[in-house]
Amino acid sequence: MARPKTTTDEHGQIRDRRGEWRSGRPVFLEPLLDFPTNPKRIFKWLFGIPGFLFPWFSIFMVIITISYLFFTPELSRMQNFEIGWMAEIALRNLVLLTLCTGGLHLWLCRWKKQGRIKKYNGNWMAKNSPTFLFNDQVKDNVFLSIVSGATIWSLYECVLWWGYANELMPFSGIVNNPIWFALGMFLVPIWRNFHFYWIHRLLHWKPLYDRVHFIHHKNVNVGPWSGMAMHPVEHLFYFSCMLIHVIVPSHPLHMLFNGIQTGIGPGLSHSGFDEIMLGDEKALKNDRYMHYLHHRYHNVNFGESNVPLDKWFGSLHDGTPEADEHFRRVHTAKVQAQQAKSESS
Ligand SMILES: [Zn+2]
Ligand SMILES: [Zn+2]
Repeated sequence: MARPKTTTDEHGQIRDRRGEWRSGRPVFLEPLLDFPTNPKRIFKWLFGIPGFLFPWFSIFMVIITISYLFFTPELSRMQNFEIGWMAEIALRNLVLLTLCTGGLHLWLCRWKKQGRIKKYNGNWMAKNSPTFLFNDQVKDNVFLSIVSGATIWSLYECVLWWGYANELMPFSGIVNNPIWFALGMFLVPIWRNFHFYWIHRLLHWKPLYDRVHFIHHKNVNVGPWSGMAMHPVEHLFYFSCMLIHVIVPSHPLHMLFNGIQTGIGPGLSHSGFDEIMLGDEKALKNDRYMHYLHHRYHNVNFGESNVPLDKWFGSLHDGTPEADEHFRRVHTAKVQAQQAKSESS
């Protein structure tokens, strides 16, 4: 007897043969840069709840304000590279990463507060698996995130603070240029995603993929700590988005936002859940199916949802059965072309 194509899980959700859950709607693409421009959609996306500003952007604003006011050394101390202030920044970033990504991991994967409700992959994190360091996916992911990820993030930040302290960086203040300050904050996530798309495409170039990016892709099923589970060289590429502030006049808060969002954002984008439930009724929308599909299929969705480069360059998998069929055909055609080439040579 043929195996059924789908099953119903313990929460009444439909899962396919691989145990995958799908939302039943195409992945969400933010409308800002989408064509044709739709002002009504853009307005709703900006000011709606959930939307661009609420909740995640606002949560990040609170985190960076607290980090700036209470957990960043005085600028005058940062004129020379000294272990004291650099260690304070490294410690702050380590605590942030542990609280945010670790908290998300505890909530979703250790305490399993919402079971598998809206969980993309049916499985939990791998244990006793030789694929991962220490034969354990979570330990592997935590080790890479903390030892390499948080360190490289902090090093970039320290170098940039040293630049601000020595007036080597192009600076734009809040009082003398409030519009650019606000616009800069808005542009940071867009710049990050634009940068990520191109860096990510480069990392899929075979020599780099085989030596570097494959480490991140060992995580087919992802959890919060998988987000920063990367080879150190990939961390160097990934956090290089912070170098934009060497060129573009910015306030240090822009740089801090850029670094912190790049450091703790992957915890959310790799949580593996479409929504984070805060109770039976309340849930925080997460909507990261787009990147989950990248881990599933590798050659689709190199970018994130706010810069539609995947759509423009034909690599967008929107999670629908039609997209499955399209990429299956593309893959088959590629394999056949390769076979034909090797037979003729
Ligand atoms: Zn990823
Ligand atoms: Zn990739």
